[in-house]
Amino acid sequence: MASLSMDGPYVLVPDKIDEQITSKTPGNFALGYIVDTDFVVLYIGRADEDLNTVLKDFVFWRSDCLFFKYSITKTAKEAFEKECINYHDFGESVNLRNIHHPEPSGQNHWKCPGCVKFG
Ligand SMILES: [Zn+2]
Repeated sequence: MASLSMDGPYVLVPDKIDEQITSKTPGNFALGYIVDTDFVVLYIGRADEDLNTVLKDFVFWRSDCLFFKYSITKTAKEAFEKECINYHDFGESVNLRNIHHPEPSGQNHWKCPGCVKFG
């Protein structure tokens, strides 16, 4: 079973996001719901600069995404690479709503660690 290697799940509300992510930092997140004790991943994403703000944009995104998990990275590149790994680990899942492979931001020539895309 693939692992997200993230903290949570927490309820996807602004107060909980502020409680968990207290500084401006790049990082990763997953949105989903809980069945029994399993976190079902619906969407994975990243923030290159400000995880707290990016996550809040998803609060009203979908009514079925009630929980989030997250992890913090030191750099945007680390967040990109982790997002790629999460995408490949969970991309086979019928539940995942991500349609496209993660892409590097701006003019960055980062490589996906999980496939030849951008390699
Ligand atoms: Zn890839």
